[in-house]
Amino acid sequence: AKKHQDPAGAYFSIDEETKFQRQARLEQDIQHALKAGQLQLWYQPKVDARTHMVAAAEALLRWKHPEYGWVSPEEFIPLAESNRAIINIGRWVINQAIADASCWQQRSGPIAIAFNMSAIQLFDGQLLPTINNALARHQLNPELVVVELTESVLIDQPEFALSVLQQMIDAGLRVSIDDFGTGYSSMSYLRDFPVHEIKIDRSLVRNVASNPAGAVIVNTILSLGKNLDLEVVAEGVEQTSEAAYLSTKGCDLLQGYLFSKPIPNPQFMERLDQINSP
Ligand code: C2E
Ligand code: CA
Ligand code: CA
Ligand code: CA
Repeated sequence: AKKHQDPAGAYFSIDEETKFQRQARLEQDIQHALKAGQLQLWYQPKVDARTHMVAAAEALLRWKHPEYGWVSPEEFIPLAESNRAIINIGRWVINQAIADASCWQQRSGPIAIAFNMSAIQLFDGQLLPTINNALARHQLNPELVVVELTESVLIDQPEFALSVLQQMIDAGLRVSIDDFGTGYSSMSYLRDFPVHEIKIDRSLVRNVASNPAGAVIVNTILSLGKNLDLEVVAEGVEQTSEAAYLSTKGCDLLQGYLFSKPIPNPQFMERLDQINSP
């Protein structure tokens, strides 16, 4: 790629320059995306490993940018964190997800609703009131709400994180550790933090049935979960062999393209009608 030189003397390629411009543009635009109606919440089922009934759904943000089209949350969430747009977006996610879950409950019975939470949101003093207000407004049981956090969120400010988690537990919410088995993985927080669920990262789930070392790691996580009385979810399940293996080994819930990609709420409700109808 053609090289440029900036006034400070650093070189960067055209590719990096356009990537940088795109990021700057997205960081600007994410601040208005909510008001402009460009954000949607899609849902991916977490199914019972034995019956394959939908037990829960994870809410996943989708952004349709007017010029760039669909932008991945992997790209825009970090930008929304850096300018704190994630605070308002996260509150909207909570309200939307709880409203939708209340609707599912009326149609098909109780389905747990999981949403993702970044550190900035966890440390926002309005987090619990936001969740509690939404639960009261939509008459949803707090035990149906699962808050998914990554380990990095807890390790940054452990004392503060612990106090927020304790408040969430006291309010009757459930806490899940996302991307388990990757990243920090100190595991001591499983002793120190009162969590209910762990989600085995999809990098460990891939080919688990045919990869002996991978299988040992997954088996170890499953027995850790069993011994600590945690719900264990496998994410990124794409193959029937993976689902069969995980189910045999006692994994509680499965999530992945094998069962469904994340889908808009109307489609999710159609699936509930098909799969979970009494
Ligand atoms: P995550 O929480 O680990 O979410 C799982 C990601 O894996 C999702 O990507 C999902 O679409 C994808 N996935 C699910 N099943 C499969 C599969 O079988 N194979 C493969 N290859 N991928 C699968 P997505 O929707 O692009 O979200 C990426 C990340 O963005 C999420 O990772 C989460 O960290 C973040 N995110 C999404 N929505 C929110 C939100 O509302 N708030 C916050 N703070 N973060 C969010
Ligand atoms: Ca997640
Ligand atoms: Ca994950
Ligand atoms: Ca992830």
